[in-house]
Amino acid sequence: MIKISKHVRTSINCALFLLLLFVSFSVIGKPPKSAFKFKTIVVDAGHGGKDPGARGTYSFEKNVALAIAKRVHELINDEMPGINVIMTRNTDKFIPLKRRSEIANENNANLFVSIHCNSTPERRSHTKGVLLLVYGFHRKGEQMEALRENASIYIEKDYQKNYDGYSEKDPTALIVLNAFMQKYRKQSILFGELLNKQFVKNDGRSSRGVKEQGVLVLAHSAMPAVLVETGYINNPAEERYLNSKSGQDEIARSIVRAIKIYREDIDSN
Ligand SMILES: [Zn+2]
Repeated sequence: MIKISKHVRTSINCALFLLLLFVSFSVIGKPPKSAFKFKTIVVDAGHGGKDPGARGTYSFEKNVALAIAKRVHELINDEMPGINVIMTRNTDKFIPLKRRSEIANENNANLFVSIHCNSTPERRSHTKGVLLLVYGFHRKGEQMEALRENASIYIEKDYQKNYDGYSEKDPTALIVLNAFMQKYRKQSILFGELLNKQFVKNDGRSSRGVKEQGVLVLAHSAMPAVLVETGYINNPAEERYLNSKSGQDEIARSIVRAIKIYREDIDSN
């Protein structure tokens, strides 16, 4: 038996006490709030330049998306000090889809919000309401939005090289893209649902809810990412709303409110 001096015994007791304390904290404690810093948001105005996006009677999706994105930027600067907003475009400029997610990835963004307008194949329609898209597997027949939003890649010169032959029919491509996003899927859905609630409860908008679809601009973003279809530009009433200052402001305010709630949710978990 080893003889332990009183001094050493006290040290051992101290160490045991600290160990116990550490174990208790590990079991019941949560990581400190500062462990996750929500600080960068990428706001992506869909389409731009030679890619006008969907068309209404008198307006293009690219211009509506940019106006709302700029308003979101202003509101975050005013109301969320310390949050850094990065815009994928500030002007009527064509940005390839892949470049948009690269911008988000390079800046270690915590959230990617892509702003768009919806439309139906008819020239005019009474279909209305918001729709929130997150990246995921999609069933046949639910691909319309994904196909339309992905159509930009065909405008890009090197799309075959850029997207490694991405094809709706290629299961490997889909599996790889989906695995990349799986980690952020839950948080994307959470943000989508929070935003949907703002649109419906606060603004009284109709909604088609949160859907998972194979949208490329979301697939390549290594962070929670949501594509916001802010309304149907080929519905005359919604086209007026989407082009009005008050409509754009209302949409932007809902996005910013949802971001604030989302940040609190993420920070406290
Ligand atoms: Zn779009």
